[in-house]
Amino acid sequence: MFVGTHACLPVILAGFWDWKRVRQELPPRFSKVDLMVIALGGILPDLLNIHLSLEARHSSATHSIWFPLILAPFALIFFLPRFQKSFPTFLLAWVGVVLHLFCDLISGGIPLWGSGTLIIGKYYVHPVYWLPLDCISILFTWFVFFRIKYLVSKGTLVSPTCSWEEKILEDWRKREKR
Ligand SMILES: [Zn+2]
Repeated sequence: MFVGTHACLPVILAGFWDWKRVRQELPPRFSKVDLMVIALGGILPDLLNIHLSLEARHSSATHSIWFPLILAPFALIFFLPRFQKSFPTFLLAWVGVVLHLFCDLISGGIPLWGSGTLIIGKYYVHPVYWLPLDCISILFTWFVFFRIKYLVSKGTLVSPTCSWEEKILEDWRKREKR
């Protein structure tokens, strides 16, 4: 799949986490920088091995199922009190790597060892759907964080420069009054 889906999926998970928190009247956990790190995790296998063809992906070490396992020991650093607060960000960035491999597994396959000899998965999701999936992921990410912003503002959020955003806000405000 394409970079938009890879970047957005773990960010949406972070959004759900924060959505739940703000509904419990807790402040959001993830800052913009955290969300960027999480999105970076989602595109890391492609970033470390930029490729265009499926053949190139099939011989990419960062697309082998061992790549997330190699990254996992880095979690040990979060036992140090100084870094503990950043653990959820690391965790979701790591989940982003796993989701990336899963998405590539169902859209052409990934190499088991990174050598191109043993490929697992195939085109369950045809490339014609990749761009629409990118658009849906980006829109859904916007929706989740727009809703969070609305909840954090306790319903006072306004968007005077964007009429369709204002329409959605109006609708939410109406629903809450009922
Ligand atoms: Zn990839």
